[in-house]
Amino acid sequence: MTFTLATLLYSIGKLFGIIGFLLLTLLIFSGDTARFWNKWVGLDKMIKFQRKFSYFVAFFVIFHPVFFMLSNESTKGFLFPDFAYTPLAAGIIAMYIFIGVMIASKLYKLISYRVWQYIHILTYVLFFFALYHGINAGSDSDDSGLIFIIAGIVIIIGIIYRTQYKIRERKTGKFLVKSVIKKTHDTFTLTVSGHKDFFAGQFFFLRLNKNKLYARHPFTISSKPGDDMSFTMKLAGRFTQTAKDLKAGEEVLIDGPFGNFIPKPEKDLVFIAGGVGITPFMSILGDRVNKNINQNITLIYGSRTEADIIFKKEIDTIDKPWFKKVYLLSQAEDNAIMSTDCEKGFICKDILDRYVKDIKNSLYYICGPEKMKNNAKKLLKDEGVRGGQMFVEDFFW
Ligand SMILES: Cc1cc2nc3c(=O)[nH]c(=O)nc-3n(C[C@H](O)[C@H](O)[C@H](O)COP(=O)(O)OP(=O)(O)OC[C@H]3O[C@@H](n4cnc5c(N)ncnc54)[C@H](O)[C@@H]3O)c2cc1C
Repeated sequence: MTFTLATLLYSIGKLFGIIGFLLLTLLIFSGDTARFWNKWVGLDKMIKFQRKFSYFVAFFVIFHPVFFMLSNESTKGFLFPDFAYTPLAAGIIAMYIFIGVMIASKLYKLISYRVWQYIHILTYVLFFFALYHGINAGSDSDDSGLIFIIAGIVIIIGIIYRTQYKIRERKTGKFLVKSVIKKTHDTFTLTVSGHKDFFAGQFFFLRLNKNKLYARHPFTISSKPGDDMSFTMKLAGRFTQTAKDLKAGEEVLIDGPFGNFIPKPEKDLVFIAGGVGITPFMSILGDRVNKNINQNITLIYGSRTEADIIFKKEIDTIDKPWFKKVYLLSQAEDNAIMSTDCEKGFICKDILDRYVKDIKNSLYYICGPEKMKNNAKKLLKDEGVRGGQMFVEDFFW
């Protein structure tokens, strides 16, 4: 074969195709086995990593036909599937499904989360289209054909792992509602009878077998290990609305635990919470009171008004030399009569200076709304706290 610019572009296109396919395999396999890696990486971190990684995969998938187009000048042949040659048509369809899934991932905050989860299932369809395309159009030697076959086996292993996990969870994850108790005007605590083993600070996936709410919803546990499991929820949409109206004896499916928002046993700890972001800290504080762990903790807890402080009674009863707290009220009236430990405003340098003994050497655990989280991180950075000393739990993936 004579070497020309066209052959170079064609070879790059082929290479991009194989790399894109292998990365796609890795992306899907890591999703299917994400629960397996939770212990080491944290499922939430895996999910967030996957979102970023998918852009990297998209780069190779999209540029794979672009290089062919540049080499061949026949743009149309790579844009519109021609079913006279099904391997190429399958590849083009796979690419469009991939682009569709990527757009849905970008827009999932606008479209319903549930719809996004269903669209996401299309990744399997696109994988098998891409596999068919790869085997029949992309492999010109036995070696490259083998790569596609191994990738297919890897994905099947992933699907088997995921399916057996789901079957097991369906058997062991059934719990019955014990109570639903209103906490503030827009929050409540759902408690089920029984518990699973977990570390304080972790979260679970909840599903309901009613109102078509079987899709998983993540909630951090707010009770301490060993107690009946409680989840404190803020009313957001259909799932939380239905959970609020659950009656004692109804079924909740609970899958987990996941995540590694678990405080390290060293240095002073500062917990920065906003609104319902208090849940992991309630579990951690309950656990520490129970075990009488003597590690200094300062809780800085932001709410709109005093009536919005979710666990005020419970937090106020923690009377330990290692525990300090301040409630920050962002919307308290100027002339509001506030309880002791309440301050008006947001987290700021003045609050850190007054409540945190050793700002530079403490470890910070942050859970709350996006804006609060970003303000807190910036403030801490300005105060000389390193990124490695800050741990964030996102309630919004
Ligand atoms: C790790 C983690 C822990 C969480 N812990 C708590 C908690 O302790 N208490 C609490 O009140 N909330 C918690 N959340 C948020 C909670 O999962 C959502 O508010 C809830 O799923 C909303 O469901 P909905 O149907 O009531 O509202 P919707 O109207 O469906 O959703 C409101 C918003 O919640 C997000 N959301 C919806 N469904 C899901 C889903 N399946 N997975 C991820 N996000 C979703 C979407 O971004 C959506 O815009 C947590 C989220 C995460 C990621």
